[in-house]
Amino acid sequence: MVNKANTYYYEWDGKPMYMLTLYCRECGREVSFPITPEEREGLTKPNRVIQNILPHHTAAQREMIISRTCGDCWDKMFKEANK
Ligand SMILES: [Zn+2]
Repeated sequence: MVNKANTYYYEWDGKPMYMLTLYCRECGREVSFPITPEEREGLTKPNRVIQNILPHHTAAQREMIISRTCGDCWDKMFKEANK
């Protein structure tokens, strides 16, 4: 789900963190949010349930990892599908 090119290592309050950067495949918007090294490790493994890896992130952030669709585009698609 995530590869090394998506992540940027930094330290926050002395703790190692990764900034994950993804681009929406619909509108091209850049979406970034921090993940821990453990979460990053979990995301690089196939067939993991993302809710278990990132329980504290928002549904929109998880959707970005799963389908590369940002919250706004997801809402738009959802509305279109329910017309
Ligand atoms: Zn979008």
